[in-house]
Amino acid sequence: MTFAEPNRSPATFTKTRVQPAPQSGLCVTCLDGCPGPCEVGRSAMRGREVLYPQPYSKVTAGSEKDYPVDFSHFNIQGTCVGAIGAPADSDHATFPAVNVSTEVGATDKIRMKVPYFTGALGSTDIARIHWEAMAVAAAISGTLVVVGENVCGMDPAAEIKNGRVARSPEMERRVKTFQRWYDGEGGIVVQYNVEDGRLGVPEYVVDQLGVQIIEPKWGQGAKNIGGEVKLPTLERALQLKSRGYIVLPDPEDPVVQEAFKQGDFKEFERHSRLGMVEEEAFHKHVEHLRKIGAKHVSLKTGAYRPADLARAVK
Ligand code: SF4
Repeated sequence: MTFAEPNRSPATFTKTRVQPAPQSGLCVTCLDGCPGPCEVGRSAMRGREVLYPQPYSKVTAGSEKDYPVDFSHFNIQGTCVGAIGAPADSDHATFPAVNVSTEVGATDKIRMKVPYFTGALGSTDIARIHWEAMAVAAAISGTLVVVGENVCGMDPAAEIKNGRVARSPEMERRVKTFQRWYDGEGGIVVQYNVEDGRLGVPEYVVDQLGVQIIEPKWGQGAKNIGGEVKLPTLERALQLKSRGYIVLPDPEDPVVQEAFKQGDFKEFERHSRLGMVEEEAFHKHVEHLRKIGAKHVSLKTGAYRPADLARAVK
């Protein structure tokens, strides 16, 4: 029994011609002359373009892998003796009166009215477009909202001086939107990856925007393979390369420029680098964050192997 659906996905607009073989995902009769609407067929023509969930910047994508264990296999068993979150009194233990507040942090706690917070909304258009609703909702709910990576680096209007961010209107908008509605519980977290660190994003947001919670990342974007966004113009590709990002194919190469202009390909890829975790260096990063004034430091990590989880917990 396979838990995934290889070779076809609504995320990449691919499908098979007939019923596929479960493990490879290839049609049980892969037909000579088939135009190839599956991932194998399309990627043979378009290469890694087919890796990316489409339409770009309009979707939030999730895995279709159907794990054999999920949250539906757990039941919350209540009790008829006592109460948690309200006094054990029939007149007071009512549904809207239950206190579900919590706090996070090792020593200096952050109070939260609710026991959940948002995922990170980074530099993608979908995150930018929906930021205001998420930030205001988080602020009035008394929870944390997280600004993901590359927001300053991807901001077309950002002012970069000597390789460091001097001002980012988009980051400013994000932080101020939250601060306008903040009433003392929850908070705004700003993550940073390798490029953000090089651009001085933590220093900028702490010093100039009053952010108190900074989150370094162990891996970012798609974790083990880094993050990628699409760039629709040559000018944008050149701008992001000049800000230190890896842009493929190289937009400074005249042959690539010519190919783009004549329509051989329609988008550049912007990749961000993988952080390399090393214990000593990580401690130094945290010390540095405290020195620049970050009140809280949290860590974002991915679904790595157990040894990496143990490192994070340690
Ligand atoms: S190329 Fe066509 S026949 Fe072959 S696996 Fe893909 S969809 Fe099926």
